[in-house]
This record gives sequence, C-alpha cells and structure tokens, in this order.
Amino acid sequence: MSRPIVAIVGRPNVGKSTLVNRIAQTSDAIVHQSRGVTRDRSYHVADWNGREFTLVDTGGIEPMKSDDVFATSIRDQALAAAEEAAVILFVVDGSVGVTEEDESVARMVRKLKKPTFLLVNKLDNPARENDNLWEFYSLGVGDPVAVSALHGHGTGDLLDEVVALLPEDAGEEDEPDTLRVAIIGRPNAGKSSLFNKMIGNDRSIVSNIAGTTRDAIDTVVERDGKRYRMVDTAGIRKKSTVYENIEYYSMVRGLRAIDRADVALLVVDASTGVTEQDQKVANLAIERGCALVVLLNKWDLLKDDYERDAVMETVDRRLTMAPWAEYLRISAMTGRSVHKIWDMVDAAAERRACHITTSQLNRLLTDMREFGHTVSDGKRRLKMHYVTQTGEKPPAFTFFVNHTDLVTDNYKRYIENRMRATFDFKGTPIRLRFRAKK
Ligand code: GDP
Ligand code: GDP
Repeated sequence: MSRPIVAIVGRPNVGKSTLVNRIAQTSDAIVHQSRGVTRDRSYHVADWNGREFTLVDTGGIEPMKSDDVFATSIRDQALAAAEEAAVILFVVDGSVGVTEEDESVARMVRKLKKPTFLLVNKLDNPARENDNLWEFYSLGVGDPVAVSALHGHGTGDLLDEVVALLPEDAGEEDEPDTLRVAIIGRPNAGKSSLFNKMIGNDRSIVSNIAGTTRDAIDTVVERDGKRYRMVDTAGIRKKSTVYENIEYYSMVRGLRAIDRADVALLVVDASTGVTEQDQKVANLAIERGCALVVLLNKWDLLKDDYERDAVMETVDRRLTMAPWAEYLRISAMTGRSVHKIWDMVDAAAERRACHITTSQLNRLLTDMREFGHTVSDGKRRLKMHYVTQTGEKPPAFTFFVNHTDLVTDNYKRYIENRMRATFDFKGTPIRLRFRAKK
C-alpha cells in the first residue's frame, strides 16, 4: 500500500528532470491518470518489475511565495524530501566535474545515511572510458555510476538496483473494518487543531499505532462502533521539527499519508480561500484514488456574506478537478460542524467502494447511444460496445470500443458527467478505461 519514496537530489541543471522523464519512459507504468496532474512534474508513481515507488524530483518544486523563512532554499526542500526517502539518487554533471555546490549537496546526503546512488550524468557515450568519473569519488558518497539521462544509458540497470534496495512491503494487514483517513492541507490551515477536535470528544476511543514507514504514527479512533485509522499523524500531533513549517515538507508528508488513505480530508484555510497549493494536494489525492472531503476551516473568521461568497468563489474556481467533492464549512476552534465530518467520511468511503452492475451500466450505454453525443474523425465513428466495472476503491470502468484513439479527453469528461448524473459517486474519483474490441 505504502509506496517508498525515491528522491532525486542535485544542484540545478545536472539533469534531474531529464532523468525523471527517462525513468518515466523506462518503467512500465507511470500513473498519471487524472486530469491536470501531469502539469505537476514533481511527483511520479513509477512501477519497475511490479514494485511501485514514488519518484520525487526535488528540482521541480517551485519555491513558495510567502514569508516563511525556511521555505525558499532548494537545499531545505531537497533535504525534506530526502529525509522521507528510502533511496536517494544524487545526480551530478559528468561534463562539468565536481563543483562546490555538488560538495554541499554531498555533505547533506552523507548526513542522512541513506542508500544513495551517485549518478554521473551526461556521459553520453558509454563506449568511451570516462576519466571524469573517478573524480566524483571525492564526494564521499560511494561509487559513481555513469549514466546518460538523455540517451537512457544505464537507467535500466539502475532501476533494478534501486528497487532491490527498497524496503520490503511490510504487508500492512488489510483491516476490512477500518477506514484509513488522511488529514491534508497547507501549514496553518488548522490540521492539528481539527485533529484534536475530532478525537477529543469522549465518544471516541483513541490509540496510537506505529505505521509501516519509519516515524509514521497512526492514530486509531473508534467511534460509534466504527474504526478509523488516521494515518501518519506524527506531524499533526506534535510539531517536532522546523521542517514542519515548510510548505514542501508538508507536501511530502501529505503525499505519504495520501498513499495509505481511503479518504483524504483536505483542510482549507477559509480566511485565505482555496490556493494553488490546495489544488496540488487535491490533485495528488485524486490521482492516488482517495475519496475527498473538503473542509473549509476557520469559517468563524469570515465576517460577512461578502467574505463568505469570496471563499466559495475560490472553491468553484479552483476545485474544478473535483466538482464531485463534498465540502463542509467548519471551525476547528469553535467546533462548528466538526461532528458532521465522520458521516461524510463514511458516505464518501461507501461510494468509493460501490459496485455498479453490468446491466445497470449497459442501460446507461444504451441511453447514451440513443440520446448522447458520439465522436468521429470524419471517416470513423466511435462505437461503444459494452462497459463493465473492472475495479473498486475507487470505482473503475472499462469501456470496450471499436477505436480507442477516437476517445478524446473531452469525450471522457462527457462520459464521466453522464455516469455521475446516473449513479451516486459523490465524494469519490472514478476511473474510465477504454479497450479496443472489434
Ligand atoms: P535539472 O535542473 O537538474 O532538472 O536539469 P534538467 O533535466 O533540466 O537538465 C539540464 C540540461 O542538461 C538540459 O538542457 C538537458 O537537456 C541537459 N541534459 C540532461 N541530461 C543530459 C544527458 O544525459 N546528456 C546531455 N548531453 N545533456 C543532458
Ligand atoms: P496546521 O499547521 O494545519 O496543523 O494548523 P494548526 O492546527 O496549527 O492551526 C494554525 C493556526 O490556526 C493556529 O493558530 C490555530 O489556533 C488557528 N486555527 C485553527 N483552526 C481554526 C479555526 O477554525 N478558527 C480560527 N479562528 N483559528 C483556527
């Protein structure tokens, strides 16, 4: 369930993002199913020989625009990602040689004491002896490995070795009666306050359980006979390090939590409205198949209808990737509507686990044939033969069609809308797949 993180670090321009793209092409499946996610190049789910991991490109993180003193430095960002990582890929530029910046990255990497690959990039000709390679021993992080991100030399072997070093899947036992819930959102949105409010009532019984990942703490809550596992609550329960304040760090943390969650509670600071960062986190949750509940927190701070409308306007404008998500106006401070969250979690999780029968689905297909749009490219016309549910949590549907290339993104959206108008998928993402069948 939990995907280990492989972090790519290195000074700018050494080829980190080229390497990410290369690995993306090399590995079997890069999961980028949901719309709008591809723009965010910083996180990628990769699959090598059946082993999934999350690739984090630390160079791809934009510095945040705020007064947070810790937030802007690339070093801090890289460090935060690297601290979460199971394996580090440290990239240097073989056409340039060792630079001072490389040395300072190396110092940081050495301190972390994690399995590290030193990748000497831009060695485009594998046949040539690369004298330059050896000078990188001076960085003190192990044997330099020659790669060419551009041409792909060495990346297949590299992936074999990386995967071999990933921790065994701890086989987190599947607890059928327990819902996994992640509280995500920007720093200061009110996640800790909300968490305390949610578990702080005497109808909940709370216990702490070590998560599978190092220093992950889960909190198990029992409420009205139901069990909820609040995943990766370490940072939420106690703010222990300065990194807790870094927007980026909370992204990585949130990412890890999202990976293990059924339902993500996105805490939005209503006094600022939905921000770009909130959009990113929402996208990540959807991409990973979590149900989503949007909590507009600090509602108590909004003084009048004008301010309240302004917040709702940001919801409409910025949460277009999840128009199906339910939202709730809450105050973690006063407790307003906090008790309603549990029911929304239950409802969203139920719909995420739903099963639609093939006959129900094909009835919809018949309707669409009779009344709906079709697509054609002039010569050929799309025919959808039948559809069946091929996955759950979240629900996935496979449409068997005559020509898959006729299915445009717009048409997919149209079908999703029709499906949502017919069945109740409130709160959950759904996946649509298309397969050729003559
Ligand atoms: P980043 O800042 O570390 O993410 O670096 P980029 O991936 O953006 O790469 C910086 C520049 O190096 C780009 O112009 C790439 O095309 C180039 N580059 C990356 N990898 C290689 C490589 O293996 N060989 C050569 N010759 N150029 C490369
Ligand atoms: P986190 O970083 O997301 O965990 O946010 P915290 O829970 O630490 O909250 C950040 C700040 O917002 C703290 O000063 C809280 O007291 C305040 N806060 C949290 N929720 C609310 C709320 O509903 N209303 C108001 N007025 N303040 C809140």
